[in-house]
Amino acid sequence: MTTLLEQIVRMPFDNPGPRPRADVPCAGCRRCCTNNSIVMLLEQEGDVLAAYEHEIVDLPGAGRGPILKRKPNGDCIYLGAHGCTIHDRAPAVCKVFDCRDAYLNFLSYPRADRRRMIRDGMIDPEIFERGRALIGEAAP
Ligand code: SF4
Ligand code: SF4
Repeated sequence: MTTLLEQIVRMPFDNPGPRPRADVPCAGCRRCCTNNSIVMLLEQEGDVLAAYEHEIVDLPGAGRGPILKRKPNGDCIYLGAHGCTIHDRAPAVCKVFDCRDAYLNFLSYPRADRRRMIRDGMIDPEIFERGRALIGEAAP
């Protein structure tokens, strides 16, 4: 059975948004790469585990799985002073993630599921807030 967390992580692949990742106007925001964000490695999307510093952890409601290692301060192990240090070979999730689409997808879940995702630490509410804000900024 597909867990809620797996559904969330797979959203960009199963329901791709209209924009490639490079189009996200991050403008210095690094929320996805900080704050102990969970970056799952997806072998089915081409990620080669041996190519990344990773660890196998218990994922909220989704069994055990590989994620990128994080520094003691919660930053991704590959986050440098000027951003991602492995941009050209970043994991599949990093290449496609768009907080605007994530926010819109999030809204498609029933309220009870949304509350549970936040309560169980499956999502970082600030990433969805950033997506909502970017959509608002782009609105006419
Ligand atoms: S939250 Fe959005 S704007 Fe911030 S780093 Fe992630 S994709 Fe970029
Ligand atoms: S691999 Fe790069 S884009 Fe992905 S979380 Fe780490 S620093 Fe951010």
